[in-house]
Amino acid sequence: MTSRLQPPLTRRTLLTGALALGTAAALPLAAAARARAATGPEIAACGTWGARAASEQVVILDSPPQRIVIHHTATANVTDYSKDRAYALARAIQRYHMDTHGWIDTGQHFTISRGAFVMEGRHHSLDELRAGARQVRAAHCVGQNNTSIGIENEGTYTSVEPPAAQYAALVEMCAHICRQYRIPAAEIYGHRDFNDTGCPGDRLYAMLPKLRRDVAGRTGETATDPLWELVRDLPGGGGLGQSDYFPDGIPVLGTAR
Ligand SMILES: [Zn+2]
Repeated sequence: MTSRLQPPLTRRTLLTGALALGTAAALPLAAAARARAATGPEIAACGTWGARAASEQVVILDSPPQRIVIHHTATANVTDYSKDRAYALARAIQRYHMDTHGWIDTGQHFTISRGAFVMEGRHHSLDELRAGARQVRAAHCVGQNNTSIGIENEGTYTSVEPPAAQYAALVEMCAHICRQYRIPAAEIYGHRDFNDTGCPGDRLYAMLPKLRRDVAGRTGETATDPLWELVRDLPGGGGLGQSDYFPDGIPVLGTAR
């Protein structure tokens, strides 16, 4: 299993291309805005942060995800906001999921560091997001792994809120996912909505109504009421009582494993 090494199409790439063509000034503003919206945030692919190969074939489901599930990593609220730290976190999570849990790869689809770096988690998640039609089967939320995109936010948000930059990256990433897969912002949930867990922490969980509003503001929606009352009654919808996938948190970075 190798990740694609093709460099991601970033906003910078697009702008550079447009300028090189000398057409930037001639681009209608609305078209330029649409181009930015379609591009989404810069996301570091598995190959960029140094992921190991998955231990077996990652399953790609022939259906789009229906919702987004928000997590926190339950790791320390570090003040190292560097890219190096972000990539080390992604590697540590993958190591923990594969070597301790015995999973085939990182459990979640995407990770956002406290320094606001957005990274691919499970292989192929980024390619599928770009295509906007199918999802990678994940391991982040019991009952939702075939129908939702999981985002891990670095930190522990039981008593403090995420850094503003990290929250802004989360908004941008959720808006991008919602646009790509046509998911309403009302379909953004916390892990605890489905499993018996404290994740994503009381403070981040309390921010989800604001997150739905902020995402809806970017996708142009008006209705932002959560659809939880409907989802809860679906098969595997919630209240299953399984323990958190991160019962003891992720080992401190640097721990030999
Ligand atoms: Zn969680």
